[in-house]
Amino acid sequence: MAGGLGTGGLKYAAEIGAEALQVFVSNPRGWAQSASKPEEDALLRESELPVYVHASYLVNFGSPNPETLEKSISSVEHAMERAAAIGALGVVVHTGSAVTQPVEAAMAQIHERLLPLLESLPEDAPGLLLEPMAGQGAMLCATVDQLGPYFEALEHHPLLGVCLDTCHAFAAGHDLTAEKGVADTLDALVETVGEDRLKLIHANDSKDVCGSRKDRHENIGKGHIGERPFAELLGHPAVAGVPFIIETPGRSAEPHKADIDVLKLLRG
Ligand SMILES: [Zn+2]
Repeated sequence: MAGGLGTGGLKYAAEIGAEALQVFVSNPRGWAQSASKPEEDALLRESELPVYVHASYLVNFGSPNPETLEKSISSVEHAMERAAAIGALGVVVHTGSAVTQPVEAAMAQIHERLLPLLESLPEDAPGLLLEPMAGQGAMLCATVDQLGPYFEALEHHPLLGVCLDTCHAFAAGHDLTAEKGVADTLDALVETVGEDRLKLIHANDSKDVCGSRKDRHENIGKGHIGERPFAELLGHPAVAGVPFIIETPGRSAEPHKADIDVLKLLRG
């Protein structure tokens, strides 16, 4: 996003051949809420690309620490406002961890605090996209069936969606390389949360083996997932029309462009 959220983001997207964009509206590793620049917001709002916002990595609605919970709520409220201003379709949030408290207490807290936030939003607000994690620690949601209690705690609110990260799912034990591995994972997802809830894919290969619970992304086709599962993903009916976002390694345009080129080839 160097050079401005809109200017920099769209320039980079064009450079790497992106057809969708995910942005951070604040420092992803902090709580500070960045101010907006209306002319930069307008560029994204008026662009043809579907845009998504990724909330801060620090957000955790399952935290037993009241300060973390309050900051999480205010951070996601801010991300939601910013997302609406840039015309984003959704805000991606990590499903979080219970840390030291029982899972039931974390889920009750999500019901009490996150549901009112969803209910305060207008009907046409960007979606809140829950992203299951790789499964380290007391993660509330790693495998796709664990989205069930989360959706229940949020009463299947219409603004709820899912962002499926392939590296996280693989690390959590979904063997996407197995025969029917991709189809089984997607079928389980649809069975758990219903149709049309899958709104975004984070397409990342994995540096680690299936079930490792490690969240280390790799470039597409260069890791333990390999290319074939991405082709299967692209061909599955539950994924029709769902944008793919890469969060792969690389500090220059070259590896990201290569990842996008591979995905474009695989979609046929
Ligand atoms: Zn991700």
